[in-house]
Amino acid sequence: MKPAPCTYGRARSLDHAIGLMSEEDARQLAGGQSLIATLNMRLSRPQLLVDINRVPGLDRIVMRDGKVEIGALVRYAQAERSAELAAHAPLIAKALPFIGHPAIRNRGTIGGSIAFGDPAAELPACFVALNGEAVIAGPSGTRVVKADTFYKGLFESALTPRDVLTAIRVPAATGETRTGFAEFARRHGDYAMAGLAASARAAGKAISDVRLVFFGVGTAPVRARGAEAALANGDVDAAAKALATDLNPPGDVQATSAVKRQLAGVLLKRVTAELMGGAS
Ligand SMILES: Cc1cc2nc3c(=O)[nH]c(=O)nc-3n(C[C@H](O)[C@H](O)[C@H](O)COP(=O)(O)OP(=O)(O)OC[C@H]3O[C@@H](n4cnc5c(N)ncnc54)[C@H](O)[C@@H]3O)c2cc1C
Repeated sequence: MKPAPCTYGRARSLDHAIGLMSEEDARQLAGGQSLIATLNMRLSRPQLLVDINRVPGLDRIVMRDGKVEIGALVRYAQAERSAELAAHAPLIAKALPFIGHPAIRNRGTIGGSIAFGDPAAELPACFVALNGEAVIAGPSGTRVVKADTFYKGLFESALTPRDVLTAIRVPAATGETRTGFAEFARRHGDYAMAGLAASARAAGKAISDVRLVFFGVGTAPVRARGAEAALANGDVDAAAKALATDLNPPGDVQATSAVKRQLAGVLLKRVTAELMGGAS
């Protein structure tokens, strides 16, 4: 199938993009790796495509006030090559190679992944696990939304159709930061059947501030709060048991609910070992 006819507009600046987005039924085009497929399948039929790829200033990774700020137009491949990201946001660096294939990572953007919010995607889960924040520009100015309240449901977020996500920020890792990442996919590069992104703070031999965020098991990234509390108490067995109430994965084309539950338990063991293992 081919996309339904629509008008194309290339935004020259952020203000220009926001202006164009005020048109009825406009949709932003970033890396196009999800959007073009939905257009081709006519799952989406916008009247106007607003290409934000030439908006200046959105393609940088910078350190600011103890946070790593990743511009929305930073491509996965660019992020993978970033020494700054590897040093200061190691969880994201661990997750990037699991996203699709090199061709997809050459075009796909960090902002597109966070904005699209596929429940089986790696970066939205990392964003929540790192207690990040989204910087959003809209018709009434710029606002910042915490990751914990960013996702509202299936492909629903704090972004309105008039907003542009300009960047995400995550706290820069310190010597005490511990992170863990694992996923099960049918083939490397496929969306995950289930995955887990986690962060914690080393506290002597124990860990604190544990954030366990599963993906591929719900309508959005899912925090396993019971398991987080159990791990912070050093009780790995209780954490595994807590998953029974923390998670209620619906079955999908990838795996049944029972298989996802089983995989979540295995992921928890692997990621816990990584969190407690010492390296960030
Ligand atoms: C074969 C294949 C395999 C893939 N495998 C994976 C995978 O394993 N894991 C994974 O996470 N992803 C995977 N993807 C999807 C890929 O990561 C996409 O790049 C990503 O979902 C969207 O990023 P994009 O820049 O391509 O956004 P686009 O496709 O351009 O846009 C996606 C949506 O987000 C909106 N949007 C984009 N940028 C912004 C912004 N700055 N502000 C507000 N709204 C915005 C668009 O309007 C659109 O609705 C795969 C894609 C393909 C084709």
